[in-house]
Amino acid sequence: MAQRGSVGKCSLCSRAFDASVMTRHLKACAKAAAGPKAATCFHLVVEGGWGREYWLHLAVPVESPFSGIDYFLRNIWLECCGHMSAFRIAGESYSRSPLDSEEFDMGVALKRVLKIGMKFWYEYDFGSTTELQLKVAGVREFPVERKHPVLLLARNDPPEVRCEQCGQARAERICSDCQWSGKGWLCAACARKHRCESDYLLPVVNSPRAGVCGYTG
Ligand SMILES: [Zn+2]
Ligand SMILES: [Zn+2]
Ligand SMILES: [Zn+2]
Ligand SMILES: [Zn+2]
Repeated sequence: MAQRGSVGKCSLCSRAFDASVMTRHLKACAKAAAGPKAATCFHLVVEGGWGREYWLHLAVPVESPFSGIDYFLRNIWLECCGHMSAFRIAGESYSRSPLDSEEFDMGVALKRVLKIGMKFWYEYDFGSTTELQLKVAGVREFPVERKHPVLLLARNDPPEVRCEQCGQARAERICSDCQWSGKGWLCAACARKHRCESDYLLPVVNSPRAGVCGYTG
């Protein structure tokens, strides 16, 4: 996976690491040692973004349903206006309200479907789709909360993106209309001069859904 150079922070010990070594770090991080709240979890690596790197490491109890991951991803990265979503795993689809006998329910427990090393996909919004790739990096004990069973282990730092108009300053706004042509990420000065409706200008946020639909973080 092309992750070199993208830095992020371990949420457990607060130290920064390159994306390429984060999986290894989390397997060894002393703060992940089992405590009274420990539960057996899948360690998942989530990635998204075309050319820009956004990633999360999550610990999710093996008994938890996929809908818990759906809920977590919507909160941290995706939710704009309640679009539909689905997991695609080994040729099967898992959604919140399965449409027919071909689809499965997201309520199924992770351990019934996932195995170490498996890759699968998640899609949010079937129109302006944000597609994420997930990988099962391992299984071990992590200190999860009963109420919020998905534990954020690590997250990328916001990538610094240059203005696609002047190439000088850091991009601060994204024109949701122009971003598809590679000219939509704008610095403050270029955003003021931009000709599209101001409704199209969205903030730059640390998410693979930055600049899409009405996503503001
Ligand atoms: Zn750590
Ligand atoms: Zn939307
Ligand atoms: Zn500019
Ligand atoms: Zn525009």
